[in-house]
Amino acid sequence: MPTKSKNPETIVLHAGYRCDPATTAVAVPIYQTTSYQFHSPEHAANLFALRELGNIYTRIMNPTQAVLEERVAALEGGAAALALSSGQAASLFAVQNICHAGDNFVSSTDLYGGTWNLFQNTLKTMGIEVRFVDPSDPENFRRATDSRTRCYYAETLPNPKLNVFPIAEVAAIGRELGVPLIMDNTAAPVICKPLQHGAAIVMHSTTKYIGGHGTSIGGIIVDGGNFDWEKHADRFPMLNQPDPSYHGAVWTQAVKPLGPIAYIIKARVTLLRDVGAAMSPFNAFMFIQGLETLPLRMRAHCENATKVAAWLARHPKVERVIHPSLQTGELRRRADACLRGGYGALVGMELKGGREAGRKFIAALQMFYHVANIGDARSLAIHPATTTHSQLSPEEQLATGVSEGYVRLSIGIEHIDDILADLAQALDAA
Ligand code: PLP
Repeated sequence: MPTKSKNPETIVLHAGYRCDPATTAVAVPIYQTTSYQFHSPEHAANLFALRELGNIYTRIMNPTQAVLEERVAALEGGAAALALSSGQAASLFAVQNICHAGDNFVSSTDLYGGTWNLFQNTLKTMGIEVRFVDPSDPENFRRATDSRTRCYYAETLPNPKLNVFPIAEVAAIGRELGVPLIMDNTAAPVICKPLQHGAAIVMHSTTKYIGGHGTSIGGIIVDGGNFDWEKHADRFPMLNQPDPSYHGAVWTQAVKPLGPIAYIIKARVTLLRDVGAAMSPFNAFMFIQGLETLPLRMRAHCENATKVAAWLARHPKVERVIHPSLQTGELRRRADACLRGGYGALVGMELKGGREAGRKFIAALQMFYHVANIGDARSLAIHPATTTHSQLSPEEQLATGVSEGYVRLSIGIEHIDDILADLAQALDAA
């Protein structure tokens, strides 16, 4: 029997799978197949009509993906999940599933740059308007909402500012107005459960901590199953009116017997069917391997990051350190309200010597990798002013929280003495 445990350490190893029914294999097999033999013409017809859930074609579902989906859904406390080819695909699908041309959604300004671009430019070409608001005042979300607003979108622990998003406050405003909150929880798996704070949908770039070893690109969306789409039928015609792309299915009705999964089923059988951003079975297997040790790794990542932040805060060449463990006042209250068991493993620092010091520091690192990634088991560093943010003007860089001497660290799970030793020698050179 797969586990009924509520403990993350057990869920990631046991939820959704005991052994392979055909071979009794204990490790989840890589079901490297495109298609599945139907038992009978009736069976095939039932699957296509969604009278029964089952495998049809790997663009839409696959048994290896299914275990990953069940485990991440259980970890987040949601009803069901959908694995996709990248975090970007997950962000796009999460919004596009309920926003059509002419609609709008309200997003926090504190976002990963790729998500910003997707929302500001690509969704605009599809006729979907993003309204960016400053999350420091949750009421900004209410002010930007109108009758065509379909969702709110934010990141739990957005870098570079690392100000934890006011999940409960914005989710409560959304529930009052009938607007679901979608949370990108990529930087805070295990330590934050956005659904418990009122979010309706959670997404991850599995590329980061869930994979954890820097091997594969992937994404996942979790349907909280906790949003009443029928109650707000005027706001969500796409879930409450016949869908011409699926022989007139009304999603809130069609899958009711299967649970509160209207949102995620629609994403799977319409968007994924049509767009085809499927996660490969091999990558799903890699993410399952990562997921199995995720709670253990997150603990080690967070412990190391808190020690690094405290150490950097005392260093004479460091102007400022950014990590929730060092925050005070309202920011710390929010961090403590949302995060359990650690403050995340991203650490920002500003070097007194500015741009040149940032460049020299990165060049001198010996163990840290200089890469445009986060969430690897290895420690990583980047100097945004000369890389990820180099296309922006100095004013734009500052607006996004990136100063000339700012360095982003993604603290890994190596021994803390080795992490500090590498930082120390690189700071000496900066
Ligand atoms: N969300 C966050 C917070 C990210 O950091 C990233 C990637 O850096 C993404 C989404 C996009 O994920 P992917 O690179 O898997 O498409």
